[in-house]
Amino acid sequence: DDENTLPEVESAYDQKLLDELDREQTRLQSIQDTRRSLPVYRFREPLLSAIKEHQVLIVVGETGSGKTTQLPQYLVEEGYTKSGTLQIACTQPRRVAATSVASRVADEMNVVLGKEVGYSIRFDDKTTPDKTILKYMTDGMLLREFMTDPELKKYACIIIDEAHERTLATDVLLGLLKDILPHRKDLKLLISSATMNAAKFADFFYDAPIFNVPGRRFPVDIHYTLQPEANYLNASITTIFQIHTTQQVPGDILVFLTGQEEIEAAKQNLEEIAHVLGSKVRPLIIAPIYANLPQEQQSKIFEPTPEGCRKVVLATNIAETSLTINGIKFVIDPGFVKENSFVPSTGMSQLLTVPCSRASVDQRAGRAGRVGPGKCFRIFTKWSYFHELELLPKPEILRTNLSQVVLLLFSLGVTDLIDFPLLDKPSIPALSKALENLYLLGALNSKGSITRLGRMMCEFPCEPDFGKVMHTAATHDSCKGVLEEVVSIIAMLHETSSIFIQERANHDSSKSSIAGKVFSDHVLYLETYNRWKDMNYSRSWCFDHKVQYKTMIRVRNIRDQLWRCCDKLGLVALNDQASHTLNGSSNLEPRIIKCFISGFPKNIAKLGTSGYHTMGVQQGGVNVSVHPTSTVFQSLRKDMVKPSKFILYQKLVLTSKEFMRDCIPIAREEWLNEMVPHYFKAKDPQ
Ligand code: ADP
Ligand code: MG
Repeated sequence: DDENTLPEVESAYDQKLLDELDREQTRLQSIQDTRRSLPVYRFREPLLSAIKEHQVLIVVGETGSGKTTQLPQYLVEEGYTKSGTLQIACTQPRRVAATSVASRVADEMNVVLGKEVGYSIRFDDKTTPDKTILKYMTDGMLLREFMTDPELKKYACIIIDEAHERTLATDVLLGLLKDILPHRKDLKLLISSATMNAAKFADFFYDAPIFNVPGRRFPVDIHYTLQPEANYLNASITTIFQIHTTQQVPGDILVFLTGQEEIEAAKQNLEEIAHVLGSKVRPLIIAPIYANLPQEQQSKIFEPTPEGCRKVVLATNIAETSLTINGIKFVIDPGFVKENSFVPSTGMSQLLTVPCSRASVDQRAGRAGRVGPGKCFRIFTKWSYFHELELLPKPEILRTNLSQVVLLLFSLGVTDLIDFPLLDKPSIPALSKALENLYLLGALNSKGSITRLGRMMCEFPCEPDFGKVMHTAATHDSCKGVLEEVVSIIAMLHETSSIFIQERANHDSSKSSIAGKVFSDHVLYLETYNRWKDMNYSRSWCFDHKVQYKTMIRVRNIRDQLWRCCDKLGLVALNDQASHTLNGSSNLEPRIIKCFISGFPKNIAKLGTSGYHTMGVQQGGVNVSVHPTSTVFQSLRKDMVKPSKFILYQKLVLTSKEFMRDCIPIAREEWLNEMVPHYFKAKDPQ
């Protein structure tokens, strides 16, 4: 009997295996078919010969034509990586784009993500030395590589992607690349951009040729509101349901919002309405996408929409050009974007929600016309489009704090900032403010050259201000010995937006279970981290305390990296000596506060007769309030503490008014003087 059944089992097993192989074959085939159907594919040969002929090539093409996913693969196929001894880098202004595209391309090349194809973003490096040949990375990460490899010797080709975004890092990269190209004749530079701005790049690189990849684009009907909308979020949600109930499926909707909070609010709102409508409408699949969205949730936007359903993608302007989502037929665009804005005269930096440029809203509309004719609903008036919107977005270099970049350039030996090649030159006041700030932090000396501390600050994968805080925690006479604590807080500050699970009705419920007698956000973050650590980094502790486990895992990872960096710089050893003499760690809080004062002397507000005001300017300053989500706000409201005369904040956010986020009250005024004497003596003589 056995002899009879055995072959049967075997053949059944074979069949299963064969089916599986078959399916895999079909999947690979369909990926290859998709690759060949992209607009760039028809230009593969002419593109490769243009690259061969020119050192610098500007590639312009409609979004979705395959620039980001295909160009690097063509270069690999063409042998530019010299059998794996050289690499190809493709920079992205956004983290999400770098990770998502890398994973897509790994799939297309049928390799494991992190091996031949990887990505590198801050605090998260998924590459394998000696194995990775194609690396998607943020522009900021490539910028940092200049510190260890000033001629980028390990690269055969650099692709500066999404160059039209004109991020600070991209602009500085282009300047540095322009400098090294004559010494690296074998290095190929591709600059890829949406249609706007291409000529400017060509000009910058001594009339480099522009290669145009004609895209396919279907007509998009543009609709405007007749009156300005006071609440664009509500208007967007109404429009979503109007489309959903009146338009045929298939046809997905893409909504452009400004950030995580808005997107999460809209998502909740949509879910509630959909719940009320129940089976009266077809199912809606709601897919958010923003920079801080945990990676495992990002792929949802790319999943094909099941038949009879409609997908609503709620996106920041990441979906404007960086990511292409298939199947979008409707775009809803309130016309706003969140932008960093820095005012040199006050030294204040803030995130502002501002109207987009015409170029941006046109790009956004275009996203509706990729699969077929589409519709774009603009939540603003036609008049506003023609009379109020700027033509082009303002490059970041003209509206941001330049300290970090200036310090990096100094560390690379570029001290002549006026003559450094840049597409747009920052203003002299902006540059002087950066120099002044770096001097204040001790990164530059009075002769204007970079100090040892300044070099140390560059090594840290974070803003120089945080570097200063860590340095102080390990070395300053009056507060050393708290490096452990300070590093935990800094790691937490990098992820604040998603640590606590917020409940709508009661903002502080999750925090209050940990807060107890904690009166500052910084100490709350520390307490949260430490208690989680004491519970052996447990998942259930997070669940019980309404803390996001996945965020905490990221925090721990950031903390480990910062700690390793401190160790490498010798700060851990110095700190260890100090903490031995720190007999009994009774009260660490004053030390912690002092460390933050040393790094953020400009982020201090003073209590006056009409509340807090910033101290950045000579007279008066700007009125600021503690943000309602802050522990400081809660403890003041509940009359648990008296308002302190000074508050240090990490961020200013302008919404209904100017709010301070992540606050720590400063108990003693003399600490200001003690930590940053030359600043506070001059500014505030009492
Ligand atoms: P471009 O850079 O020219 O805008 P891309 O190379 O990003 O174009 O996109 C080419 C195609 O690859 C698009 O049709 C896009 O939908 C698809 N694609 C990109 N990333 C993914 C992904 N993660 N999952 C599925 N499809 C993707
Ligand atoms: Mg792209």
